[in-house]
Amino acid sequence: MSSPLPIHEIYAVKYAGPFSRPVAKVLWNTDWEKEIEINYYIWVVKGDEGPFVVDCGMSPSLAREMKLKGYVDPVEMLARMGIEASRVKRVVVTHMNFDHISGAELFPNATFYVQEKEFNFWVKDPIARKPPFLMLSDPVGNSYLARLEGTERLVLVNGDRVILPGIELLLAPGHTPGLQAVAVNTARGTAIVGSDCAHLFRNYEEEIPSCFIIDMVAWMRTYDKLKSKVSSPDLLFPGHDMRMLTQYPKVAEEITRLV
Ligand SMILES: [Zn+2]
Repeated sequence: MSSPLPIHEIYAVKYAGPFSRPVAKVLWNTDWEKEIEINYYIWVVKGDEGPFVVDCGMSPSLAREMKLKGYVDPVEMLARMGIEASRVKRVVVTHMNFDHISGAELFPNATFYVQEKEFNFWVKDPIARKPPFLMLSDPVGNSYLARLEGTERLVLVNGDRVILPGIELLLAPGHTPGLQAVAVNTARGTAIVGSDCAHLFRNYEEEIPSCFIIDMVAWMRTYDKLKSKVSSPDLLFPGHDMRMLTQYPKVAEEITRLV
């Protein structure tokens, strides 16, 4: 008989924002004349094996360069939860866009988990140097991960993979070639940190993606896949929704427990 899976908690850690965006940017082809606010987040998953972090946030240097509103160094944000970034052992990189990857250097002792497809595209494919991709990527974060290739600090994942009891990485392309979501066993069943598979809860509800589309067909298949895997629709978490900060129990300044 197999032992029951360990229970985890998921925390949303806001590190920048709010930013005003045209609705059409976060809900493809919808409400061109309206605006909506979003935040930038990383996530922490706590369980038996110690906390791990989902996404890196942005480095202080890039945040300064971009004059990023409401920015707090992710290292300081994690300290508010009693977590030392330099001691974090695992970081799951959902995808290699600047707001999710440029803070990789903040985790000098972590092993990074990235889908091989995602890594190969952003690091090795010359197409990734075309303007629509360049405006979403961060050369510093990309080269940080590239330097780790071949070492035990970079795990290139091929498709779905259980990395710890109760933690499964799910290949979820559409927004980027090899985005991965993180399925987490929680007290309420399987929850999913979906990152930018959706900017907002509304993307999942209405099955309309954001405007940053690499493969729309793959994206719609990803929605079916994540919805079939999650235990309840409200346990499928987006990448940038303000509600992650405002509608869940606060555990520290700008940090909430999602489940
Ligand atoms: Zn994002």
